Amino acid sequence: MNLHEYQGKEVLNSFGVTIQRGIVAQTPEEAVEAAKKLTEETGTGWHVIKAQVHAGGRGKGGGVKLAKNLDEVKTIANDIIGMNLITPQTSAEGKKVHQVLVAEDVYYPGDSEPEEYYISVLLNRVTGKNMVMYSTEGGMDIETVAEETPHLIFHEEIDPATGLLPFQARKVAFNLGLSGQAFKGMTKFVTALVKAYESSDSSMFEINPVLKTSDDKIIAVDAKVSIDDNALFRHKDYEAMRDLREENPVEVEAASKGLNYVDLDGNVGCMVNGAGLAMATMDLIKQAGGEPANFLDVGGTADAERVEAAFKLILKDPAVKAILVNIFGGIVRCDRVAQGIVDAYKNMGTINVPIIVRLQGTNADIAKELIDNSGLDVQSAIEFQEAADKVQAVLA
Ligand code: GDP
Ligand code: MN
Repeated sequence: MNLHEYQGKEVLNSFGVTIQRGIVAQTPEEAVEAAKKLTEETGTGWHVIKAQVHAGGRGKGGGVKLAKNLDEVKTIANDIIGMNLITPQTSAEGKKVHQVLVAEDVYYPGDSEPEEYYISVLLNRVTGKNMVMYSTEGGMDIETVAEETPHLIFHEEIDPATGLLPFQARKVAFNLGLSGQAFKGMTKFVTALVKAYESSDSSMFEINPVLKTSDDKIIAVDAKVSIDDNALFRHKDYEAMRDLREENPVEVEAASKGLNYVDLDGNVGCMVNGAGLAMATMDLIKQAGGEPANFLDVGGTADAERVEAAFKLILKDPAVKAILVNIFGGIVRCDRVAQGIVDAYKNMGTINVPIIVRLQGTNADIAKELIDNSGLDVQSAIEFQEAADKVQAVLA
């Protein structure tokens, strides 16, 4: 589950990570009130108005602007709220902005120039350990840094037995070229960040930029936080931060029905039980000349109700030209699944795309008979390749 920047910063701050302070606002009037309140708390006269959507690159798309007085706060908030923000990370249609974060300006002049760094915490899948990834080249697109100047990206692996050790936090500060107060600030920042990552059961933190202010404070200016969905049951307060407006509506509906569904761009709908079989099915569809329209794992209990819910979800996608059902009947018997498919089909009246059903496992033969004798426009298959060939035939 991804959080908005303002929510991510709240999570960070609750574990002692220093942040650029801000208040979220739904209307231009609220933005002005927020700005006044921040001025009281921080003494800042300038504010940044930042679109809150689940996508990065907002600055480039015109979703982050500096306001030098309250009139500007109002006009900028008015421009940004309701706009369709298009950034390098959104689709071509962009994302509708429902709210803005009014934040203190932290790029004020002082004894030194403000400096931007990049810091993320994530799982290194090669070593199976969490790591801190960081760079002096903050504020920019990290993919570009990785491509053009990979030697400017550093990694610090976290041993799960010890956690991040003090010398490692100092190494981060050293490699970022810091000294004095800023060095101390960075070691505290990184230590708190890793603690926040572990305690919140996050799967990714990306703080770009982390800022050294002109008076040597280290703060998070941006925050991309993803919480591991599988751990949400023990973080009810984070679960309440979910913003369904930011998520794919079909995926949200699928989740509410207990189906594991990911929307894709292709033309063959898939209904499969088990994630591994679902991946193999998608491969086979590709080999047969199609493109999967979705990943859908209906789970262990493929009864009529779930099968119907799954059909309905798949058919919401107008690009779907065929549906491949590939179910392995282990615990759930194939004949029960077949009956579920027939019942669901009859319940739904007409389905305008051909359906190919492959049922393998317990009672597969009875299941095939059930499908073949149903009188419906459903083709059965026993072998995996046979199913793929049938998909190919209907697409041709
Ligand atoms: P992103 O573009 O979605 O990654 O949004 P960020 O939160 O990273 O902000 C984009 C850019 O806005 C930053 O890289 C900064 O250059 C700028 N910015 C953010 N906060 C401030 C601020 O307080 N003052 C000024 N002048 N610029 C800021
Ligand atoms: Mn950023």
